Amino acid sequence: MSRSDAETRTGAAPSGVDTSVPHSARIYDWWLGGKDNFAVDRATGAAMLEAIPTLRMMAAENRRFVHRMARYLVTHAGIRQFLDVGTGIPTRPNLHEVAQAVAPQTRVVYVDNDPIVLAHARALMISNPEGRSEYIHADLRDPDRILAEVSRGGTLDLTQPVALTLIAILMLLGDADDPVGRVRALADALPSGSYLVITHPTPDFNPEAVGAAVAAATGNGMTLVPRTRAEVGRFFDGWELVEPGIVPVPAWRPDGDPPADPEAVYYWAGVARKP
Ligand code: SAH
Repeated sequence: MSRSDAETRTGAAPSGVDTSVPHSARIYDWWLGGKDNFAVDRATGAAMLEAIPTLRMMAAENRRFVHRMARYLVTHAGIRQFLDVGTGIPTRPNLHEVAQAVAPQTRVVYVDNDPIVLAHARALMISNPEGRSEYIHADLRDPDRILAEVSRGGTLDLTQPVALTLIAILMLLGDADDPVGRVRALADALPSGSYLVITHPTPDFNPEAVGAAVAAATGNGMTLVPRTRAEVGRFFDGWELVEPGIVPVPAWRPDGDPPADPEAVYYWAGVARKP
């Protein structure tokens, strides 16, 4: 799963890649079986896995959720534009591939602040010719810059509904970074009929295990803030939650066999429409 020659990769790391501290995109990549991770990411990822042995399954469930919500929004809500912040290292199929399989003209803008994701951005830009996809290297903590880049790129038409998707990213912003305010700043730029999609890890189902995973991450210098259902609900203030509301990730409109225990995935998921 991990590369034995990872330290050789360290020498060839894209510029801006810091291999001395763990990065969420690379830990996530390692959990999902990718190759873009370094020793420090695997050590932190392994310590977190020790606290929560089912973390890999949770990461995979988040990807499955992305596919379900993309199909739902394109099929049932008429959404043809997505703004995905905290995209991560590409995994197949990517969001635009899922959406374009239903509506080929769908346009997607991806945003991430990790240089490794930037190095892979080309894979995110191979769009169906009828649609379009674009990658913006930017930080969620600077929503004005994201919006300026979105306007400049021209991939999205901000006078038409957009689905703003924040999948497993908001826990990487501490409360001092004002995640609610940042999401609000992006959401305010979107017209009525837009959607907000969030998944967020939570201590609600297993505070001990989640606390131990957080300790493993923060001990290595990461910010990781699981939030309660009520705290996740604040991101949706003023929006109309789509049925079934804020539920564990596998319980959001399951289309196959859900895991026996949806609460085994310590993540809340919600999808809401802007009135
Ligand atoms: N959404 C993907 C990846 C989740 S990992 C999935 O569910 O599979 C979280 C991603 O958020 C990482 O790629 C990380 O680089 C990115 N990220 C973390 N903080 C960020 C910030 N402040 N601005 C933009 N992206 C950020």
